[in-house]
Amino acid sequence: MSLPTPEAHIRAVTETVQHRSPAEPEFLQAVHEVLDTLTPVLAEHPDFIEAGILDRLVEPERQLIFRVPWTDDTGLVRVNRGFRVQFNSALGPYKGGLRFHPSVNLSVVKFLGFEQIFKNALTSQRIGGGKGGSDFDPSGKSDAEVMRFCQSFMTELVHHIGEHTDIPAGDIGVGAREIGFLFGQYRRITQRYEAGVLTGKGVGWGGAEVRTEATGYGAVFFAEEMLLRAGEGIEGRRAVVSGSGNVATYAIEKIQQLGGKAITASDSGGYVVDEQGIDVDLLKRVKGVERARISEYAARRPGAHFVATGSVWDVPAEIALPCATQNELTEEHARTLIAGGVRAVAEGANMPTTPGAVELFQQAGVLFAPGKAANAGGVATSALEMSQNAARSRWDRDKSESRLHDIMRDVHTATYEASERYGRPGDYVLGANSAAFVTVAQAMLEQGVI
Ligand code: GLU
Repeated sequence: MSLPTPEAHIRAVTETVQHRSPAEPEFLQAVHEVLDTLTPVLAEHPDFIEAGILDRLVEPERQLIFRVPWTDDTGLVRVNRGFRVQFNSALGPYKGGLRFHPSVNLSVVKFLGFEQIFKNALTSQRIGGGKGGSDFDPSGKSDAEVMRFCQSFMTELVHHIGEHTDIPAGDIGVGAREIGFLFGQYRRITQRYEAGVLTGKGVGWGGAEVRTEATGYGAVFFAEEMLLRAGEGIEGRRAVVSGSGNVATYAIEKIQQLGGKAITASDSGGYVVDEQGIDVDLLKRVKGVERARISEYAARRPGAHFVATGSVWDVPAEIALPCATQNELTEEHARTLIAGGVRAVAEGANMPTTPGAVELFQQAGVLFAPGKAANAGGVATSALEMSQNAARSRWDRDKSESRLHDIMRDVHTATYEASERYGRPGDYVLGANSAAFVTVAQAMLEQGVI
């Protein structure tokens, strides 16, 4: 048998994806981002080409799309679309969050699910990759409407998940409130208290300490590791952060705890600049408790101001943490950040930096951490939650945070070493993709053609 070259193989697989999914731009972007870095890995592993590993990896094992009818507070019946993409289970049961946001469609869920395979592999926690969600928009809905929606969503999802099959969690628009409603309905339908079927539960009934904080804290730990390797640190440095959900809030909190100063936060209406450093308690009250607009933060905080146009990337800083959503940091933003002296960028969100912007950062010698490495702390802590549920145990905050910190150090070491091994030391995109791919590919190879 004569095998194609790695380059030709990657091209052929990419073309197949394009042909099968022409209307899925986010998914295609995520596939490109990974496949474009794998040439040196495939050159070492013709067995991966022969076994069709890439061909299989880009095709989800299973994709579910379902109707979610629910009744709003006025008595009107509304319908949303629900998704669960079970992408790859070579390393363990499917694991990944649910996103409730009007922008959710199959392309978005597939890009997130594809990323999740590699992210989860990097955590070394033996979890496969999946993702789900709905185009339901929880903002502006009453708690009762959110509950009825979650109950309807779970009435279908219950058939497809389980602690050994598929374990959903939160993502944008899905937090402790939604996980609570989803779990309640799962328990009612199945008549089983299967704690490990969802993660991100309330800490009083099976949730892990530090799960809420883990993605944001983990992204800062990763940024710190990159800076320490380069002989630098976080102390005394300015950071710009986008977003104001869990990831952004706890990234800001950890930056301040490590002696840095995070000076921005944002939502879809604009951003705030607070040169004294963001007051995390006020941010949590405004965004977390009151579910109000970020402009409200500036209204209540002397010295802070609200900006309705542009983005946080217009504010010069040494550290940048995109923690909002996909493709929020463009080439133009990257140029501005580089001109403003940025040293390190770590993705708290999934795929927030466009491919062109990533290239500009790398060319300028900026330390750049892709989300599948930098934001792996969230799902890693979800896996720790699953372990605690299985063992019917509960770890305290200190133990939970120190395990998270260790995992992020290990993810950094694994990605850095892979970047060295494949010839581009410090290219964390190459490092994360190659380290994760080899782990998943090897497991697929050993498990046969399935
Ligand atoms: N949605 C999060 C992510 O992007 C967490 C998933 C999980 O905890 O399962 O990794």
